[in-house]
Amino acid sequence: MKNGSKRILCVIFACLMFLGTCSAEAPDSDTVIINGVEYERDGWGVKEPESDVDIETATLSDFGDFFSESYPVEKSSYYLMEGTEYEVEVVEIQSETEGPVVYIVSGIHGDERAGWYTGTLLKEITIKCGTLYVIAPLNTYGAREHVRYCCEEDIDLNRSFPGSADGNTGEQIANAVFTDIESKAPDFVFDLHEARSTGEKSDFLGSCLIYTTLEGIDEMFMDMLFATQIGDLCSEPFSYNSPGPIGSINNTVGNTLHIPVVTVETFRGYEMSRRIADQLAIVHYVLTYYGMTE
Ligand SMILES: [Zn+2]
Repeated sequence: MKNGSKRILCVIFACLMFLGTCSAEAPDSDTVIINGVEYERDGWGVKEPESDVDIETATLSDFGDFFSESYPVEKSSYYLMEGTEYEVEVVEIQSETEGPVVYIVSGIHGDERAGWYTGTLLKEITIKCGTLYVIAPLNTYGAREHVRYCCEEDIDLNRSFPGSADGNTGEQIANAVFTDIESKAPDFVFDLHEARSTGEKSDFLGSCLIYTTLEGIDEMFMDMLFATQIGDLCSEPFSYNSPGPIGSINNTVGNTLHIPVVTVETFRGYEMSRRIADQLAIVHYVLTYYGMTE
């Protein structure tokens, strides 16, 4: 199929999905109906099912056949915000063969666990060529406390980009990772998140891919979206959204560094293992496109 027709099909699919996935409050306001399924609410979002995954002991093979090949690589790590209570490890996976550079940031929002659980699993992979950087989680406070925000002051790290070395906690963390991405000049950046519907006239954001720029990756992005829509990739069709919000890593890295960032959103109403498998499938698709795995 020509790319133009695929793009039109993707748009049609996405419009149909938008119409079909708007959420509505059920008669009992403790629940919300999404795609015809009723979910319990917990405050403003859906209630997450109990996690069926222990990330301390989980391995990639628990979630499907992802990255099962083994290639010679050198692994090392370094730290952002070193010596502070917000210190973050960046794992660097370097192939012996030259190739693209991909930078994966997960856990900007600490309570969106499937994102940084996926990042945690990705630290273990090997790649055929190029260099992979993985942060999981970036928001160590939020991950530990199981909250969205990055510090006690309830600052949203994903509205703090590009940040500043002498700004508030969110701005300092944002600045540290933004500066690191700038210096590594990756070909592509992943930003792994999750979504909860509010149920009050809001759109359903998970499962969704968000971009601000598709410079150089428009064909791959459309192919990937299309693959989810025809049932070849992930557990259900993904929609898309653009641009990323002002102050987000997606918008800031896309617009100021001109590096494409794809934010992956999975739905927190689903079982954890399904959400991780979907995140892994998207990352696997992109790394395969770059020839870094197969
Ligand atoms: Zn998020």
